[in-house]
Amino acid sequence: MPDKSTSSDAPAPTAAETPQAPSAARKIYPIVKYGDAILEKPGAPVKKFDAELEQLAEDMFASMYAAQGVGLAAPQIGLSLRLAVVDVTGGKNPEAKIVLANPEIVHAEGEVREEEGCLSIPGFRGYVLRPQFVTIKAQNAKGEAFEIRGENLLARAFCHEIDHLNGILFLQHLSMLKRDLIKRKIKKLRKQGEW
Ligand SMILES: [Zn+2]
Repeated sequence: MPDKSTSSDAPAPTAAETPQAPSAARKIYPIVKYGDAILEKPGAPVKKFDAELEQLAEDMFASMYAAQGVGLAAPQIGLSLRLAVVDVTGGKNPEAKIVLANPEIVHAEGEVREEEGCLSIPGFRGYVLRPQFVTIKAQNAKGEAFEIRGENLLARAFCHEIDHLNGILFLQHLSMLKRDLIKRKIKKLRKQGEW
């Protein structure tokens, strides 16, 4: 989700849990941009939890750090799958890495209106109302179920990524006026071959 424009250094992850695939060999996926239909279609549930999925999740972290994001959902790399990764520290703390397979919000509380962006809609931001606290349940890359509570930016990242898995972009949370303005600008960029 939110692109982390404030961070100047986004170090590549050094914690390689899978010995056969060191971080140096990580695949960096290009990010799918707004306009691609895959972004507006719900992803299929993750059913197969194997080494391939763990590798995919690690590659998603690497791709997210490379793009200086704090969250990345599988549809954003062209995979229609209910899988997302989140790290609001931008790679600074390996323990902050969260893999979300089949995540669902179980509880939401409070409201915060903050500016938000999306790696798939680069250069555009908008104020989005999100819960201040959310509790979600999900599975990790091994298929183990867990619950996690997030506050502020983390809660926002969870909501933004879960939206992606449902084919929803932050644009849909903006006023029609603001949304149309952004859409028009993107259309223009596309015409100029800059999107
Ligand atoms: Zn996004």
